[in-house]
Amino acid sequence: MKFSPKRPINFSAGPGTIPEEVLETIQEEIFGWHGIGVGVMEMSHRSKEFISIYQSAQEKFRHYLQIPKNFKILFMQGGGIAQNAIVPMNLARRGCIDFLVTGNWSQKSYEEAGRYANDIRVAASSKLTGYTEIPTISGWKLNPAADYIHICSNETVQGVQFQELPDISILGSQAPLVVDCSSDLGSRSVDWSRAGLVFAAAQKNLGIAGLTIVVVREDLIGRALPICPSAFDYSVVDANESMYNTPPTWAIYVAELVLGWAQTQREGELTGVRAIEVRNKRKAEKIYRAIDESSFYHNNVAHQFRSDMNVPFFLADSKLDAAFLSAAKENNLLQLKGHKSVGGMRASLYNAMTEEGVDSLVDFLKDFERTRG
Ligand SMILES: *Cc1c(COP(=O)(O)O)cnc(C)c1O
Repeated sequence: MKFSPKRPINFSAGPGTIPEEVLETIQEEIFGWHGIGVGVMEMSHRSKEFISIYQSAQEKFRHYLQIPKNFKILFMQGGGIAQNAIVPMNLARRGCIDFLVTGNWSQKSYEEAGRYANDIRVAASSKLTGYTEIPTISGWKLNPAADYIHICSNETVQGVQFQELPDISILGSQAPLVVDCSSDLGSRSVDWSRAGLVFAAAQKNLGIAGLTIVVVREDLIGRALPICPSAFDYSVVDANESMYNTPPTWAIYVAELVLGWAQTQREGELTGVRAIEVRNKRKAEKIYRAIDESSFYHNNVAHQFRSDMNVPFFLADSKLDAAFLSAAKENNLLQLKGHKSVGGMRASLYNAMTEEGVDSLVDFLKDFERTRG
């Protein structure tokens, strides 16, 4: 045990907390990976050692999320935000895209796509209700000519999450569903039969910044527009096994370790993502219960759309916000300030957030209310 037992509890929305075991392994291996005297940072991406790390990360990720063979896993760079441009450049052959706008992130994706496609539409939006719900699928207005439909599975800022991927075939749509899963990929299982392309920046549940994972159905590869840079053309990335340019080797190494950790998590009979999913639900319920039982804290999101990953909440008296944050810090609870666009507080409960960490926050919420409420 190299870290002090007083390691703070970090509720950061991203980059988020990393499992302690993973940090310990990194610390042990930084000067030399598996006894070879060279660390991963200093290794050629073409070396057999790095190729083995890369292949293991690919295999672990596919196995962990049960990704079918007809989907390719691409390790890219540029983050979730770059995908807001890269997806349209790869898929919007007709220039028609439908967006579901459910918060800051999907709104951002919608705005960026307008630079690459000329017929971008909002199929449905929850803006009028302050992004506290997800519009029911029967009301979505889909463009029959759309190249794809974009959703954000978990709105990191507003704390609004799809409980499962929507089945757009019930609206008669054949268009692929593109999902920004940056803040929940790896936190629960995915119904791949409903997805065309899923992307996620790694720094929430899968490791550190620098790696962007794209999971794309084979038949959607090879349609890029001529303006698409080669390094961002899915067919080029795929044909070169994510090594057309130097991949983010360190971030791939960390993701491989994080996936190894995730795969061995247990909850009773369950292992891997199913254990993680159950634990994440329980963690989130503990916080929401504490908030709902009090009149001192509140969360405005409709219950069935509340996120298991990001829990925004407000104090009844916002004049106490600063005191709340400094008392939290004294209690070793860090990064609880809400996103600047919504204010208040936000607790992010990614996979690496321990249940003990959540319990400490619940205790603190009660304690602060008792003394200051
Ligand atoms: C964090 C996040 C992103 C951002 O990714 P970058 O790596 O900053 O580009 C995109 N979408 C969602 C939903 C996120 O939570």
